[in-house]
Amino acid sequence: MGQTRIYKCDTCGYEAEISEGIGGLFPVVYKQTLQDAKDGKLGEEVRQFFAEYPDGAINAEDTFGLCEQCREYVCVTDYSMYVPKEGNEHQKFCADAGYVTSEDLRKHYRLVRRYPHQCEKCNTLLKMNGRFRHQGKLCCPKCGQDMNQTGGLLRD
Ligand SMILES: [Zn+2]
Ligand SMILES: [Zn+2]
Repeated sequence: MGQTRIYKCDTCGYEAEISEGIGGLFPVVYKQTLQDAKDGKLGEEVRQFFAEYPDGAINAEDTFGLCEQCREYVCVTDYSMYVPKEGNEHQKFCADAGYVTSEDLRKHYRLVRRYPHQCEKCNTLLKMNGRFRHQGKLCCPKCGQDMNQTGGLLRD
């Protein structure tokens, strides 16, 4: 299940809508993402990865990054690329199910390559997720103060 949260900075008024986790009907999303990856729609690097590792997996969940140029959070699909760990029984299960969640990836796969996300506005490489929180709060990219969560909704 995914989550969309709205954060607001009380100091400067910057607002960000951040989605994380699974968006939409995941088996469908995963299948489409994998197809796009293999068809080269996510770029040549991703296409090559799946040509090299046919049993590779992709992280099709929502995440976010920081554009240091625009000083904004940008929501993206993760697209990190993984291969199954050695002797992985689980891999067959995932292949049968037709999709791999990020939890499966953490437990049963090895990260090979991160997808280089760019800001759509200025083409700067985004700094990816995890480093913008301290004590559970997001830092405001404009002024550096903590942002407060002002709303949120769970998605299916
Ligand atoms: Zn601020
Ligand atoms: Zn930017």
